[in-house]
Amino acid sequence: MHRYDYIIIGGGIAGTTAAETIRKADSNARIAILEEEKHVLYSRVFLPKYCRNEITREKVMLRSLGDYEKERLDLYTYEKAESIDFVKREVKALSGNIFYFNPFVIIISTISNAITFG
Ligand SMILES: Cc1cc2nc3c(=O)[nH]c(=O)nc-3n(C[C@H](O)[C@H](O)[C@H](O)COP(=O)(O)OP(=O)(O)OC[C@H]3O[C@@H](n4cnc5c(N)ncnc54)[C@H](O)[C@@H]3O)c2cc1C
Repeated sequence: MHRYDYIIIGGGIAGTTAAETIRKADSNARIAILEEEKHVLYSRVFLPKYCRNEITREKVMLRSLGDYEKERLDLYTYEKAESIDFVKREVKALSGNIFYFNPFVIIISTISNAITFG
């Protein structure tokens, strides 16, 4: 059973910053980030340079798994949110996992049109 105070959908810069900001304000909060890709936070801005082999992978990656552990942020990769039920307070993922939130789910605005709301 996955129960969190805050569930953040999307592990890009907006979602990661939201999680880290919540952690600063609330040291006890249970915080999860659901990210459909397999990576920790990386810089989209540096991608073209990386594809041209002008910079290393280390330069592109903005966080390590250790950074999430240190901040006690539960990062779920390969976890695509499919629907949110605000009555049941649950997020259903493509994997079949169900994540319960109370009080908040935070949806990164650029992805909200891909999720079903109930
Ligand atoms: C090649 C490239 C170059 C860029 N260069 C610049 C630049 O020079 N300057 C600049 O200001 N901006 C630049 N940008 C734009 C910048 O990267 C974006 O503004 C920024 O990444 C937006 O961050 P975000 O966290 O809002 O969204 P995103 O980075 O899009 O993060 C959203 C995350 O949510 C995840 N997600 C989506 N749907 C779901 C779901 N249903 N369940 C779980 N996870 C989900 C995605 O996998 C993604 O990781 C560039 C972008 C690209 C692609």
